[in-house]
Amino acid sequence: MNEPLAALLELSHDLGREDRQLAILAEGNTSAKLSATEFAVKASGACLATLTASELTVCHREKVLALLDRKTVPDEAVQQGLLDARVDPTAKKPSLETMFHAWLLTLEGVNFVAHCHPLVVNQILCSPRARDFSEQRMFPDEIVCCGPTSVYVPYADPGLPLAWQIRERTKDYVKANGQVPRLIVLQNHGLIALGGSPGAVMACVLMATKAAAIFVGAAAMGGPNFLLPQHVDRITSRPDEAHRQRELRL
Ligand SMILES: [Zn+2]
Repeated sequence: MNEPLAALLELSHDLGREDRQLAILAEGNTSAKLSATEFAVKASGACLATLTASELTVCHREKVLALLDRKTVPDEAVQQGLLDARVDPTAKKPSLETMFHAWLLTLEGVNFVAHCHPLVVNQILCSPRARDFSEQRMFPDEIVCCGPTSVYVPYADPGLPLAWQIRERTKDYVKANGQVPRLIVLQNHGLIALGGSPGAVMACVLMATKAAAIFVGAAAMGGPNFLLPQHVDRITSRPDEAHRQRELRL
């Protein structure tokens, strides 16, 4: 098996670990860039914790991106489009969320993408404070691993409507911040972490999950107290934090 596929399996197993409560049953999906024209994504209905090589489906990037560029696509046409995007026509059907994976893997420096539904994060994303969790920061390591702010995506129907929303909101984020996000937050749904390595993606997921637990605890005591914008900017621009990001391969 080639290196990105082996790394993708390991990342999937890490995400699916029962003790971490990030995804159960067939929840969540992962992907990796294989070349400029192909990527691998979890097959529909597969379980992250026990994912095998045959449950990773290699897809033609341009065929999936072509689906995203259509204005309206009936459900059956989406299913057919996903089947037609497989490099090997005998491979399993790719996840319904393959469209957003394909697009996010086109962003500069993004080689791996992970989507999951962490229990503690969804406590907040299913509450009226979802946007606060996305747009505010509480402590320095949250900024280092998850970025100075996240992309906030209002609830959208899984599949193409969600992929369209993610594309629009992420484009806005890149324009406003001059950088690719590390974390995308989906209202009433879950999160997406993106990065150059499986380690960066996993660090983002775990730190976002820790931040969510801190948020919930602080909210119970009248908080959280969020960091001021100048404090967030300072962490983002500190040379020692940039060095730490490189050391951690974030
Ligand atoms: Zn999901």
